[in-house]
Amino acid sequence: METLINYRKSAMPKIPEYDVAVTGSGAGGGAVAGTLAREGFHVLLIEKGGPVQSPSHAMDAIARYYAHAGYHSVFGNILCSIPTGICLGGTTAINSGTCLKTPPPLLGRWQVASQGRFQTGEFEIYLDQAWQRLRAKKVPDRLMSPSCKIILHGARASGFPHAGPLERAEHGCQGAGRCCFVCPNQAKMTSVKAFLEDGNGVVPNVMKRAQLIHLERPDGSNKKLTLGLRDLDNNTIIKIRCRILVLACGALATPYFVRRYRLGPRPGRAGNNLSIHPAAKLFGLFDAPVNGWQGVPQAAGFQNNAQEDIRYEGVYTPPELAALTMPLESHKLRYWMDRYSQVATFGFMIKDSSRGRVRYPMGQDYPIVLYNMNLPDQHLMKRSALTLANIFLASGAKKVVLPLNSPSNILPRENLGATHSNWSPRRMQMMAFHPLGTCAMGSVVDENLQIEPGIYIGDGSVIPESLGVNPQITIYAFALRLARHLAKKLRDA
Ligand SMILES: Cc1cc2nc3c(=O)[nH]c(=O)nc-3n(C[C@H](O)[C@H](O)[C@H](O)COP(=O)(O)OP(=O)(O)OC[C@H]3O[C@@H](n4cnc5c(N)ncnc54)[C@H](O)[C@@H]3O)c2cc1C
Ligand code: SF4
Repeated sequence: METLINYRKSAMPKIPEYDVAVTGSGAGGGAVAGTLAREGFHVLLIEKGGPVQSPSHAMDAIARYYAHAGYHSVFGNILCSIPTGICLGGTTAINSGTCLKTPPPLLGRWQVASQGRFQTGEFEIYLDQAWQRLRAKKVPDRLMSPSCKIILHGARASGFPHAGPLERAEHGCQGAGRCCFVCPNQAKMTSVKAFLEDGNGVVPNVMKRAQLIHLERPDGSNKKLTLGLRDLDNNTIIKIRCRILVLACGALATPYFVRRYRLGPRPGRAGNNLSIHPAAKLFGLFDAPVNGWQGVPQAAGFQNNAQEDIRYEGVYTPPELAALTMPLESHKLRYWMDRYSQVATFGFMIKDSSRGRVRYPMGQDYPIVLYNMNLPDQHLMKRSALTLANIFLASGAKKVVLPLNSPSNILPRENLGATHSNWSPRRMQMMAFHPLGTCAMGSVVDENLQIEPGIYIGDGSVIPESLGVNPQITIYAFALRLARHLAKKLRDA
């Protein structure tokens, strides 16, 4: 198998020149860079993080490969962290691998909003291509985590007949249950495995542990963009030139460059329109051992039938993390942790109508995320949690911990009314795994994802609205479409 061509930073010529420089090696950046390199273009992929290795402890993976060691939080009326990956492969190295295509009504809306410049039919071709390259397939029954199996049973009995296995990006998955902490079997299909190490011979140059910190537009004497990159290993600055720059630093980082360098006609909008898919998980205690650490954690899922605004998906929290994150204290926490082998977990996320913002008063390394959850989303969170709690009980759980920082957060209990009245946004325990929309197509970038001549955006920030489904396939598809557009442009030039 081909390995990535690692850039020897010390051996660089004076100012090397490229057809395309791509910053960020996640779903968007990895797909654009890999596709263009395979088409024969001279591509440099710049990644702030380093390569990943599967550590034996989940906490180690979080410390090494999650931005801000996983503790990046929003400011607003909710308590919610937003983890993202900083490593080769970006967030795809630490994601669950679930693949769901963009809901068709959204594609139709984007086509209408763009007056036909975004074409649903064309985009579906890229969704299929992404699907194939990620080798997306249904989780087989033998690999499904026991936690998921138990909850599926209760979900089907509770009016969700379509509850079933999810499709995931993997090749050779053995159900080791560590997807979010770097797959120990290298089975999960990350952006690196799908687009940068595909065995077809041509891969881009990859400069790891290097960060885009500066950009200069072409001027009279120089027709190319000049980028300043910080070598994070020895803190030196490297300059490179490129005909085209693709910013793919993720929805929380890319707007920094748009705002800082006043890119495009509407730089002030960059960072607005942030959707995050607020999510939460429940714990259920069963009589018999569940052994939830076995198998694929996010193996099964379902959605509410009426509107597609809630998705329920499997999750497993290793005990070392559960002890930190369960909303329980003292003897209650001890009670649940002593019985953790009998505990099943399952989560949900909502398609949010609230919108946040990201700003950079302390520079690109410390994005400040502002997000206030509106009332409809608060109700949706509560409704989702109570529906899932009832599914746990229908599955045979004796007790369920709600995602609520309140002493009355364990069901079933006599005084259900108290649980309901304690349900305020500040008390809900949430996480959000899908920041999107901060440089939206049709607002900050055009339908070809161009922000100004020579500069494009190719990550989750271009997605115009909250998707309601896990976003990686949509981001990959946008990136493949962008790569096709750039290849044509470069050839025609
Ligand atoms: C725990 C977790 C589980 C998830 N599970 C799923 C799932 O099952 N299915 C799904 O569809 N989605 C899932 N997601 C979300 C999905 O992985 C992301 O939405 C997707 O990877 C985002 O792609 P991106 O290209 O926008 O950004 P990223 O993948 O985040 O990539 C951005 C990259 O840019 C780099 N970078 C940032 N700044 C700079 C700079 N200045 N210079 C150079 N490099 C820079 C970062 O280090 C990073 O590698 C999950 C996310 C998390 C956190
Ligand atoms: S379940 Fe295990 S083997 Fe399968 S992709 Fe996740 S970490 Fe890898």
